[in-house]
Amino acid sequence: MAENLSFFQKVNQNFDKAARFTEYPQGLLDQIKICNNSCHFTFPIKRDDGTIQTIHGWRAEHSHHNLPTKGGLRYSTLVNEDEIVALAALMTYKCALVDVPFGGAKGGIQLDRNEYSESELERITRRYTYELIQKNYIGPGIDVPAPDFGTSENEMAWILDTYLTMSTDKLDAIACVTGKPIEQNGIQGRKEATGRGVVFGLEEACSYEDDMKQVGLDPGLPGKTVVLQGFGNVGYHAAKYLAEAEAIIIGIAETGGAIYNPEGLDFEKVAMFREETGSIRNYPDATFIENPNFSLELECDILIPAALENQLTAENAPHVKARIIGEAANGPTTTKADEILQERGALIIPDTYLNAGGVTVSYFEWLRNLSHVGFGRLARRFEESTYNAMFRAVEKATGYQFSDDERQTVHGADETDLVNSGLQDTMINAYQEIREIRLKHGRDVVDSRTAAFINAIHKIAQSYMQLGIFP
Ligand code: NAD
Repeated sequence: MAENLSFFQKVNQNFDKAARFTEYPQGLLDQIKICNNSCHFTFPIKRDDGTIQTIHGWRAEHSHHNLPTKGGLRYSTLVNEDEIVALAALMTYKCALVDVPFGGAKGGIQLDRNEYSESELERITRRYTYELIQKNYIGPGIDVPAPDFGTSENEMAWILDTYLTMSTDKLDAIACVTGKPIEQNGIQGRKEATGRGVVFGLEEACSYEDDMKQVGLDPGLPGKTVVLQGFGNVGYHAAKYLAEAEAIIIGIAETGGAIYNPEGLDFEKVAMFREETGSIRNYPDATFIENPNFSLELECDILIPAALENQLTAENAPHVKARIIGEAANGPTTTKADEILQERGALIIPDTYLNAGGVTVSYFEWLRNLSHVGFGRLARRFEESTYNAMFRAVEKATGYQFSDDERQTVHGADETDLVNSGLQDTMINAYQEIREIRLKHGRDVVDSRTAAFINAIHKIAQSYMQLGIFP
């Protein structure tokens, strides 16, 4: 298969492969696949040194079958129209897979954030938001951005403030963007959500004995060796929850090189070292690999690309030794690489499913903002008093006295508990649906990516039917 397809063409190729297993009319399939709106705009900014620079920004709204549309905002030199449209399409399929009632969108600004000061980034983000407002590309019921590669809760706070300043709907305006800081109407657990969701997904995928047997591994995450490419928001949090699940992180790759220790790396120490020195180079207790791409070929059980698209290619796929590829990044595997890896019997857990934790918790944040009440607020005390009543009843019936420590193990569910439980439930259910589709058609006939696309197509087609567009 051709490697020189554009990113959006590759997404559509995966769609077409899956569509063959459905019976929807071609016109409906075309409508699902096409990108509804996309907008490229430019604006000038004054740099700190007084020079003027033209900035290029994009926002694409792939599908309006559900509103609002939803998707991250990316700052990277690689941003272009095709990339943003492809990522917006992936958002449509991702939202469908995890039953989040949004259409897909994505935005981006073509820049390397390391080359701009904090105040320049603020001016750029505010002006980008102003452009979105002018073009009706943002709003709680229209299109809701979130963090992605190269952006964080800081940018989301600037977007919110700019939107609030200009909005006439002050009540619901706080739902115009998600991934906000907690103190600015964000939600507990959003920053961690994508990485945490990746680990919930891997845990579920590794729990099936027969699936693991197929790839020559024992079930369960404990003891499995992992290599991570990209140690940003998603990579760092995936590492954190993988370590909690007792997987062993043996390799971490960043832009300037990779580190490797077959005995295991302490992800927290690596993060602190990078914080202090600005890079992972010279990290003690590890071998340094000058070319970070070599890390993709390291001996390990699970490889997690968590940086950018097109990282696993026809060139390096034949050398990849991992048995499981967990696509935390969007589009990390080219079509040819996918083919090679499948032929070698690797299990690829696709991006449309595996990194959906971010949008799932963004959905919770949006709901919280629109309802104007924190999750857990109504029920927490009631649940606590119910548990305490149960403790007292057991004590009375048995004569056993619970210690303070034992009593503290139960408490009413707060926002963090509810968000994590909702996220875990979502990731488990979505994987089970994909797996069932795969088993129904036969493992050798349908891979996980195709099964995920089949499921997404069914769900989106059902939404169109509910809209009455497709009787
Ligand atoms: P980020 O900017 O926080 O981190 C990305 C990291 O990857 C950076 O540390 C960067 O230096 C590193 N990197 C870039 N190129 C690399 C390379 N060639 N080799 C090794 N490291 C490299 O971004 P993020 O939010 O963690 O996003 C990572 C991926 O996950 C993207 O594909 C994004 O679309 C996807 N994603 C993110 C979210 C989210 O909630 N942030 C949600 C879903 C999907």
